[in-house]
Amino acid sequence: MKKQSVFLALIILLNLVSVGFTSLASAAQQPNILLIMSDDHSTRGLSIYGSYRNTTPNMDRLAHQGMRLTQCFAVNSICGPSRAAIITGKYGHKNGFRRNLLRFDGSQTTFPKLLQKAGYQTALVGKWHLSRNDAENPPTGFDYWNILPGQGDYYDPDMFDMGERKSHKGYATTIITEMGLEFLKKRDPDKPFLLMVHHKAPHSPWGYTAKHESMYDGKTMPEPPTLWDDYATRSEATRTAQRSPMASLTASMQNDEWATGRLEDGGTTDPVKLKSLTYQKFLKDYMRTVASVDDSVGALTDYIDSQGLKENTIVIYTSDQGFFLGEHGWHNKRFFYEDAIRMPFIVRYPPEIKAGTMSNAMALNIDIAETLLDFAGLSIPNEMQGRSLRPIFQGEQPDDWRTSMFYRYYQGTGVPIHYGVRTERYKLIRFHETDEWELYDLHKDALEVNNVYSQASYSSVVRQLKSEMKRLVKELEVGDSDLEEFVPNLPGTD
Ligand code: CA
Repeated sequence: MKKQSVFLALIILLNLVSVGFTSLASAAQQPNILLIMSDDHSTRGLSIYGSYRNTTPNMDRLAHQGMRLTQCFAVNSICGPSRAAIITGKYGHKNGFRRNLLRFDGSQTTFPKLLQKAGYQTALVGKWHLSRNDAENPPTGFDYWNILPGQGDYYDPDMFDMGERKSHKGYATTIITEMGLEFLKKRDPDKPFLLMVHHKAPHSPWGYTAKHESMYDGKTMPEPPTLWDDYATRSEATRTAQRSPMASLTASMQNDEWATGRLEDGGTTDPVKLKSLTYQKFLKDYMRTVASVDDSVGALTDYIDSQGLKENTIVIYTSDQGFFLGEHGWHNKRFFYEDAIRMPFIVRYPPEIKAGTMSNAMALNIDIAETLLDFAGLSIPNEMQGRSLRPIFQGEQPDDWRTSMFYRYYQGTGVPIHYGVRTERYKLIRFHETDEWELYDLHKDALEVNNVYSQASYSSVVRQLKSEMKRLVKELEVGDSDLEEFVPNLPGTD
């Protein structure tokens, strides 16, 4: 009996060890995911991307420990549609969220839902922005969520805590960071987690904290080379946007409460002076809010590292799209121009990503869902339209990696509806309502100031790009009526 008991005890012990190994193995296969996303952060506002106007030490440190993507683009450069594309892995014509202020169909497949089903603890804190009223259209796929209503407030914001509206004292970026840390502290350590920390900053109206108030005192922000762009070769559709507060710095000045009467020379009517002063105030306030997001990245990664989670946690810092920081005389995003579509994208995951690396592979916001499912070892639904970035992160770009992308902006508020195609070298844009085209040769004209669409030497390039756009429209099953009209008669494709 005694021998049998020892034998039985051994069997139990072996089983326990084996269960222990299994759970360790599955934990190793299913890394934790911390996805920090800000709102409207241009790559020109991170020192690791070469900013000449600010520094972001914590974001830079994360990039030095992992990889930075230089060509990561939003397929529709505006808040809600980019967020919908990120969680569904699909374009707006497939996930239904083509414009801001629509109601996101929360019954569809998203990567947080699939991770939740696979045993992840899932949490979302901060800005959601996928409905008119977040209380009536709550996020799905999260065990815990605490979100700002709509755009939310920078100071003393209200938030929906699992549907219950609560008031908070303090600054939004700090509050959202603390909520993220709180989730990490209270989570079940035996399960992998997905934590999405979505900041309001640096979205307008650029409210900052006392800590960052004096950081630009006595300093002048350098102006970008295209601040005084004269739009000489551009379409009428683009020039029209100069009168819209959705694009023009000075028009925003006249319409936005953020700036009214707060310029150093608030009474000036001189358009040149007004634009310069608006630029200075806008850039300084914007960068002050970026500094708070950088602090947040530092606090969250410090916590991950202090808990011994560095090796088994994928940490991503990104933004829903880019932003014009005075380039072309603009603020805001929306356009299919470089500064608006390019997202900062930094990822750290020591077991698979070599520290201090960079990739120029063309990545899209619709790739994020498939990438995270791939890392979690889950199968990727056929309906998703991106591609896993995991080989890119590992430094191995597949031979058949994409060389072009389709872009489509539907909103139309201030910036006209348009779509187009970008390759590594060229960008072709069509403004639908005015039937105008623009073509930029990014190798010769990285700042996109010279539209060469009508130049004879580019006629074969135009034909090739139209043909490529037609191919992408078909592959992505765009099928919207205006494109259906356009595609069969695509000029120059024969
Ligand atoms: Ca945004």
